[in-house]
Amino acid sequence: MSFLVLSLAQPVAGSEPARDAAAKKHVDVETAQRFYRIATPLLRAMEHSLKPQQVSVGVIADAAINIANGGGGKFFVTTGLLERANDDQLRGLMAHEIAHEDLGHVTKLKISATGANMVLLEHLAATHTALTLIDGPMITASFSGSEEVAADRQSVAILERAGYPKSVVTEALTWISKMSPSHGGFLSTHPNINERIKNLKAVP
Ligand SMILES: [Zn+2]
Repeated sequence: MSFLVLSLAQPVAGSEPARDAAAKKHVDVETAQRFYRIATPLLRAMEHSLKPQQVSVGVIADAAINIANGGGGKFFVTTGLLERANDDQLRGLMAHEIAHEDLGHVTKLKISATGANMVLLEHLAATHTALTLIDGPMITASFSGSEEVAADRQSVAILERAGYPKSVVTEALTWISKMSPSHGGFLSTHPNINERIKNLKAVP
């Protein structure tokens, strides 16, 4: 009897918990393709448009909702944002960061590994891309208030050129404003968000 108990207690290679732990180190194919599908039309609609082969993406393991422009076609997004946002919310926040890139605003990022785990956006369209998560948290510096106002307006222009209404960005900002401050991230580097939403809605 004791032999049987011992053998059952041994960890089995390839068991469920082992596979789950491994899966969390990568972005699944559906998520990678979703990011590609949402980002590509917005990048094309920039004033200084970028192709998927000119853009690299890093996904950071961080429950906070955040997305950032690292300059030179580099974008960072947290697992928290990818998991919580619906397509329009992701599109609106992405349009905001792409607007910062279009206007040449680059944030100072503090993350553990910048280049190693980034992949070209064009590769996310493929069914086999393994996008390894970058260790979090993602910490970014804030832009100035005037840069935020400019990015808000530019994001509307980008969305409209890509065929989406202004409400995509105002609703994404409203969604994020309702998140608890404990979710940190985007909200902590984007203060006065309610005032910005109001201003943005007032622009014809
Ligand atoms: Zn911003």
